[in-house]
Amino acid sequence: MKKVLVAGGGGFIGGHLIKRLKREGQWVRSVDLKHNEFSAEVADECVIGDLRDPAIARSVVEGIEDVYQLAADMGGAGYLFTGENDAAVMHNSAAINLNILDAGARAGVRKLFYSSSACVYPQRNQRDPNNPKCSEDSVYPADPDSEYGWEKLFSERLYFAYERNCGVEVRVARFHNIFGPEGTWTGGREKAPAAICRKVCAAADGDEIEVWGDGRQTRSFLYVDECVECVRRLMESSFSGPVNIGSETMVTIEELVRMVSDIAGKRVLIKYVPGPTGVRGRNSDNRLIREKLGWAPSDPLRTGLEVTYHWIAGAWAKASQGVVRTSV
Ligand code: NAD
Repeated sequence: MKKVLVAGGGGFIGGHLIKRLKREGQWVRSVDLKHNEFSAEVADECVIGDLRDPAIARSVVEGIEDVYQLAADMGGAGYLFTGENDAAVMHNSAAINLNILDAGARAGVRKLFYSSSACVYPQRNQRDPNNPKCSEDSVYPADPDSEYGWEKLFSERLYFAYERNCGVEVRVARFHNIFGPEGTWTGGREKAPAAICRKVCAAADGDEIEVWGDGRQTRSFLYVDECVECVRRLMESSFSGPVNIGSETMVTIEELVRMVSDIAGKRVLIKYVPGPTGVRGRNSDNRLIREKLGWAPSDPLRTGLEVTYHWIAGAWAKASQGVVRTSV
């Protein structure tokens, strides 16, 4: 039985990955600042610890063959793109990666997976919402639009430097907007699909909801199970990356809102308001992953959105009952 570590195992993608690894029969240690808020932990060992502390990083890699590094100071546009959290995002995530790599290489870890992001791609190629360019080789000359993207790019380079110099294998993926149930859906760190599901859920038929930007920004969204499938394929392959893991189905934010309101069976009016929106257009370019891993997403966006909407509606209903109870 392989012994693996999932760093960030209390988070959204980490939680789904642990379930998948357990179904495969692997022995899993999870480390995170917190327990998973949304589902029972299924890891064999759950460490609550701060990976900015080198001693914690050293202790959790003991006896581990493969590491999946998903821990990051993470959020949606409202957390990452306002500029207010730049120092924390860069410091915290860089410290986690420095510690995990150093500890992993010293402890003889065989392979490390690193979750980078589409935010590494240069702004100049993402100004036209209808024609963004995000092929893996377009990343240089570097010009990410956020410090989050710069940290991811630095850390990608760090992983490859450790591979060249320190005898560990690495696998690097650039995730493009992963969504699904059991992810952050409220509190300021949620990403667009979850925020839209929550707003539509809270709205009555015919109500107005606020959406940042002008609705014409484009993105693609990948369902979390498909992401996890890809991560596992990449980890088992001989290809190091970096490689995009995303969907090539690009939609405008307005189309996303329409799809969610249709799933909810509600008519909603959209009020566009100023807010942090990131680049104008972004889409995954899946040519490399098709070639190297023979992978392409299998389900349409709507299928994953239906599951996500209903999960958020359930979470929202429970939270609303909580509010009613405490105010009585
Ligand atoms: P998430 O926030 O749900 O999970 C990250 C986890 O890291 C959290 O549970 C958090 O508590 C933990 N963490 C943060 N600081 C830590 C520390 N100092 N020590 C230990 N744990 C710490 O985010 P996610 O959506 O599951 O993302 C997982 C990874 O994928 C992140 O690295 C993120 O940057 C990357 N990514 C995600 C997306 C996406 O759309 N979700 C897109 C691009 C990249």
